Amino acid sequence: MRRPLSDECILWTGKHTPQDYGYASVDGECKLIHRVMYEVFIGPIPEGMLVRHTCDVRNCVNPEHLAAGDYYDNWRDHMERHPCMEWFRETYGEAHKGNAP
Ligand SMILES: [Zn+2]
Repeated sequence: MRRPLSDECILWTGKHTPQDYGYASVDGECKLIHRVMYEVFIGPIPEGMLVRHTCDVRNCVNPEHLAAGDYYDNWRDHMERHPCMEWFRETYGEAHKGNAP
């Protein structure tokens, strides 16, 4: 079961990728900020895993709202929230234009 969200979103005010994920230069490397926050506050991200936003806000950096998961978890979460497939279209329709996902 997902734990209840305990805090409001903390929005990243720095740079953003075109997909609205916050990023910053950390130790000379460009990194997605929610992944950095996860590693700092929660621990190492398991190999091959994504850091997901349980609040569905891409530029949120509240460690309480971050969870490691795989692509399937991510997809299922989004489908629960967006049953009309908006997310699916946005992700696969744009990112993989011309290619089957
Ligand atoms: Zn949040």
